[in-house]
Amino acid sequence: MNLLINFVYVISAILFIFGLKMMSSPATARQGNLLSSVGMLIAVVAAMLSNGLDYKWIILGILIGSAVGALLAVKVGMTEMPEMVAVLNGFGGLSSLTLAWAEYHQQPDTSLFVAVVTFLSVLIGGVTFTGSMVAYGKLSGKITQKPVIFNGQHLINGAILAAALLAAVIFCLSPASGFGYFLFILIALIALGFGVTSTIPIGGADMPVVISLLNSYSGLAACAAGFVVSNKLLIVAGALVGASGIILTQIMCKAMNRSLANVLFSGFGSGAAKSGGAAAQGEVRPASAEDVYYILESADSVVFVPGYGLAVAQAQHVVRELGELLEKNDTEVSYAIHPVAGRMPGHMNVLLAEANVPYDQLIEMDDINPRMDSVDVCVVIGANDVVNPAALNDASSPIYGMPIIETHRARTVIVLKRSMNPGFAGIENALFFNDNTRMYFGDAKESIQALVAQFKNS
Ligand code: NDP
Repeated sequence: MNLLINFVYVISAILFIFGLKMMSSPATARQGNLLSSVGMLIAVVAAMLSNGLDYKWIILGILIGSAVGALLAVKVGMTEMPEMVAVLNGFGGLSSLTLAWAEYHQQPDTSLFVAVVTFLSVLIGGVTFTGSMVAYGKLSGKITQKPVIFNGQHLINGAILAAALLAAVIFCLSPASGFGYFLFILIALIALGFGVTSTIPIGGADMPVVISLLNSYSGLAACAAGFVVSNKLLIVAGALVGASGIILTQIMCKAMNRSLANVLFSGFGSGAAKSGGAAAQGEVRPASAEDVYYILESADSVVFVPGYGLAVAQAQHVVRELGELLEKNDTEVSYAIHPVAGRMPGHMNVLLAEANVPYDQLIEMDDINPRMDSVDVCVVIGANDVVNPAALNDASSPIYGMPIIETHRARTVIVLKRSMNPGFAGIENALFFNDNTRMYFGDAKESIQALVAQFKNS
């Protein structure tokens, strides 16, 4: 039986790996998700075939979990996905903590190795749980999105972590002593507290990076818990989540040209980031729906550049409609995707996929930039930082060095936004003042609806 269970675990691990690989492209991501879910299902069935399990509790857990999962799947909107991921991450961390607790409660007299992995499950699991809850609160606006910063904060956080490590050393050396249980609870409480104190100094808009990092932590906690209960698949799955979470965190930091330390410790978004953009000079040239219609109507190629404002306006469906009308007019249409446009990784891919924009029209930043000089019209929809030329030419700008979609090199640029307000980084954008830029002010969805109407009435 053991051999069979191990064999099924290997199959599950293979399905996880192929599933993850398929998730790297929007075209195969859904099948990848399904494949990984099948891997998890057969792993759960195999684990349940192990001896000595009390099925009535397991079935109750499955029923409650499935009901909550089904409800969330139906109720949670696409734009609330980061919040949901935060909550689910948090629960992953909490389950690693409680699993290690249950094992320790049953068997306090363990080896040094098991004591160390028990400590790691509790520490990382606890931090992941409360850190994720704070991230959820910030993203959903239930607690302040501003970084909560006070003097000596890093020192206090360092002291909390040092206390946890000291308690861990004493705990690991004699986990079964009368003092062991007290230390165990102390470590769990410190971990839960540290999750809060280490996440509150980070601004709400940086939460997607934090969630990705916490996702990695939840994997590491699960991996440690896998060692505690000697479950090979939990070790493998935890390691995969831990590694992919940290890779995603790295990709996001690179796309913003910020270090992870800067995201975690700088209090970005607290107002500290002053207007460091290139002095934006010149005149703004507003355009009406009719002006924009004539520009688009005569264009051979149009590149839409979506950003956070597209998500706010929920303009993805009308953009696809406009794209189809342009194609009927023999215009070549594509969508330029910046890796950190919006507020979560893959935000634009998700929105455009929801509106059934064909995958082959989505062009990654590195592929569209070399062709930018030959593009007739770039339509920037609620994007700001990801098209700000200050990232290329102003060394004093907070976003200097961040790769951008180089719309300023297109023949004509049309920018859809409601005002001259800055984006996430809080800096001016010289693109809006360029000679080849026209500003089409208004809510993105309403502005595009007006263009669609122009095309339909022509
Ligand atoms: P920005 O936040 O730079 O700009 C968004 C623009 O959308 C604003 O200037 C706003 O202008 C406009 N806007 C808002 N609502 C509407 C609306 N209803 N209709 C039309 N326009 C609207 O977004 P970008 O996508 O360009 O850049 C993302 C930023 O977020 C980057 O700085 C990135 O580093 C950061 N970030 C991204 C993460 C990710 O994972 N994607 C994670 C963490 C940070 P106005 O108010 O005038 O309308």
